[in-house]
Amino acid sequence: MSAVICTREMLRTTIAILRRGGERRHERVVLWLSTAAVRTPASIVEVYEPEQITEIDYFKLPPASMQALMDHLRSTRRRIVAQIHTHPGRAYHSEVDAEWAIIRHVGALSLVLPHFAATTTPENFLTEVMTYEYSPAGNWDHCSNSGLDARLTVTT
Ligand SMILES: [Zn+2]
Repeated sequence: MSAVICTREMLRTTIAILRRGGERRHERVVLWLSTAAVRTPASIVEVYEPEQITEIDYFKLPPASMQALMDHLRSTRRRIVAQIHTHPGRAYHSEVDAEWAIIRHVGALSLVLPHFAATTTPENFLTEVMTYEYSPAGNWDHCSNSGLDARLTVTT
């Protein structure tokens, strides 16, 4: 099981970026990066906003953006532990999301927020977000956000 630790400040940054997309009624995606060492729980050290093409119901990273991301990871020696994106309505990991997932390694986390994150705050993040983990069988399994199975811990 993958688990990540992130600060309230990082949640604030994440929500602010995602809402900027929502103001245009577009989805938006950010990536949570940690250091290269594989550790559980992984501490998030950076909220990365890739160049992206967005619409009301999708986001895509053009090839140049993927290249910039790879260059950034290489030069900072970081890795992607989670992608977080918004939906216009309900939050779930859709088939399109599976097809366009930026990360697809076992233990990768995909977090989805509803309503363009318009109502999300650092305080209610864990109740609004839907969390999925990429399984060895190649599925995005829905995960609990509470109890011992919780994938995300928020620190102050
Ligand atoms: Zn989606």
